Order: sequence, then C-alpha cells, then structure tokens
Amino acid sequence: MELVSMPGQKAKGKVWLVGAGPGDVELLTLKAYRILKNADAVLYDALVSQDILDLIPSQAEKIAVGKRAGKHSAAQGEINQLLVTKAFTRKNVVRLKGGDPFIFGRGGEELQTLVAAGIAFEVVPGITAASGTSAYAGIPLTHRDYAQGVTFITGHCQLASRPMDWQGYANSNNTLVVYMGILNANIISDGLIGAGRSADTPVAIVSNATTSSQQRFIGKLGELAQLAADPALQMPALMIIGEVVELADSLNWFDPVTTQQKMAQQKTDLDTAAKAL
Ligand code: SAH
Repeated sequence: MELVSMPGQKAKGKVWLVGAGPGDVELLTLKAYRILKNADAVLYDALVSQDILDLIPSQAEKIAVGKRAGKHSAAQGEINQLLVTKAFTRKNVVRLKGGDPFIFGRGGEELQTLVAAGIAFEVVPGITAASGTSAYAGIPLTHRDYAQGVTFITGHCQLASRPMDWQGYANSNNTLVVYMGILNANIISDGLIGAGRSADTPVAIVSNATTSSQQRFIGKLGELAQLAADPALQMPALMIIGEVVELADSLNWFDPVTTQQKMAQQKTDLDTAAKAL
C-alpha cells in the first residue's frame, strides 16, 4: 500500500510509540503516563487493557486498530497511513501498544513508515509480557540453578522462509518464552521434543497475566497441547518452558481475586492524581 503524505510539507505533529505494559495499569511507566495525558489522538491495540485506555483524556481521539489472531480490525498498511495522516492533523499522536513496542509489536515497521514520511517520533519502552508474566506468575526467567539464559520467540511458526530453529531452542539450560504460541502448541512441543528437549520439562501457560483475571496452567512439555486446549484458558496467553517453572508453586505470590479490589482502588487513586496534574 502506497503512503499518502504531503510532499514538501512537514507534519506539525509528532508520534510517540508507547509501550503500555502487559495489563496492570500500575506497570505503565511515568513517562508513558505523562505522554498519554497530553495526547490529542491515540491509536491503540487490542492488547491494551481497559484500565489503561481509561487514562486517555476524554477530549483525545481514540482509535482502535487492534489485531487479534486471524481477525484483523485494521491492516498494517492502514495503520501506517493513519499514523501519517494524524501526524499532519494533530499535535501529539500516541501509538499505544501492549507490552513493549519493539518486542513482537511491529513497532519498528511503523517507525520506518514515519521516517519515510519525515515525521518526528519518540519511543517509550514498556514492560513486555514475558517480564510481566514471569513476575506475576512467580517464575523467574533465569536462575543460577536452573537457567543461564532466556529466549523470546514467536509461536506463529508460519514463515516458510524462516523455519523455527528447534535445535537452538531445545537447550535445557535455557528458558524459552513463547509469544502467540497457543494455537501451535502441538507444533511447539513436537519441535522441541524432536530436537532433544525432555518431554518432562516443566511448562507454564499464563493467561491475562498481571490482571485480576490471570490464570496459570502448569504441566510438562509433553502435555503442552492439552494445557493449551483447556477450555478455561483465555487470550492473551504466554508459554514459559524450562526448569525455572519448578519454582512456580513456591514463588506464587499473586492472587488475582483479592487483587481485584485493590486494583479498583488504585484506579481511583490514579484518577485523583491525574485530576491534580
Ligand atoms: N509487544 C507485546 C507482545 C505482542 S505479541 C509485548 O511486549 O508484550 C502478543 C502476545 O503477547 C500474545 O499472543 C501473548 O502471547 C503475549 N501477551 C501479551 N499480553 C499478555 C498478557 N497480559 N498475558 C499473557 N500473555 C500476553
């Protein structure tokens, strides 16, 4: 799709590519919060939590451009065009993405479009789903006794030109975090076990991490597909594969149910703080 810009003219607006974190409104950075409060237009993804959307000033234009597996509410080309158009018609344009914009968020692609159109931008990092999930599910991603490293991969597995490196991911000293992997759980477990990772490797699937509806599904790599097919499992969900998952019981501090009330109170406090700004 060809971009419509205004050749010879400079956009007056600027775009802030902002990470909204994994869900819990308090995981938003102060910088993201300040920028959101000054926004004239916000283009946001399906993954951005309602609590965070509620922080957007009422006079700002809110545009949902989210994509959900298989269901595209706006094609990437349209999002790129919208960003450029808004930068010409508005001053402070926020592109708000779940988690961190540079981790499986296509943030880089959107910025390349802005560069091509000569539009000024800044990037605000966010807490990526892996970090949020790890913290709130009580599963450290590295631990001297269990894992020396961690790898983030996408479970989309759909690019024939870029086949999954199962051999590389099967290293038993490493934790593997799989984004967008639920629909391909059987391909992922077969790939890893086929490359030598033990079927007994502990795994966790965590859905709606960091929110009051967080749920953990814990088992073994050999039963990943059954865990992923649990009717109670909601999206979004992340997989953590590796020995570190053994710590999930002893380090399980987060209780989504009792947190629900606390979160409601935090939201009231934030609203009060926002009014005082
Ligand atoms: N940029 C985002 C990731 C976008 S890809 C980030 O840095 O977090 C979308 C995938 O992220 C989902 O399919 C899911 O695997 C994961 N995800 C995002 N938010 C999540 C949450 N609250 N709980 C569990 N998984 C989440």
